[in-house]
Amino acid sequence: MSATTFTRGGTPYTPTYADSIDSKKCIGCGRCYKVCVRDVLTLIDRGEDDEIDDDDWDDEDAKAMMTIKNPGDCTGCGACGRTCPKGCFTFVTA
Ligand code: SF4
Ligand code: SF4
Repeated sequence: MSATTFTRGGTPYTPTYADSIDSKKCIGCGRCYKVCVRDVLTLIDRGEDDEIDDDDWDDEDAKAMMTIKNPGDCTGCGACGRTCPKGCFTFVTA
């Protein structure tokens, strides 16, 4: 079930909640973190276990990646996905 709500002007819209971030694509730039006003995201170091040999990883120098720390606080504004230059985010509507 999606959580349809309304704009101030009364137009219905469906929030899109941040559900996952593709660690293989993330370059740790922090753009998404800066636009999120709900403290949902956090930047973490890539540990030994997170090192990726995959061809999909765009920036082998990236030492950090973004994760979803507080998924329950997301309002579904979608700003993080709009600002991400690598298309890392996946969203859900409920
Ligand atoms: S959708 Fe909005 S509230 Fe949710 S993580 Fe992204 S920027 Fe933050
Ligand atoms: S904007 Fe995209 S690439 Fe940059 S830290 Fe966020 S998820 Fe990673």
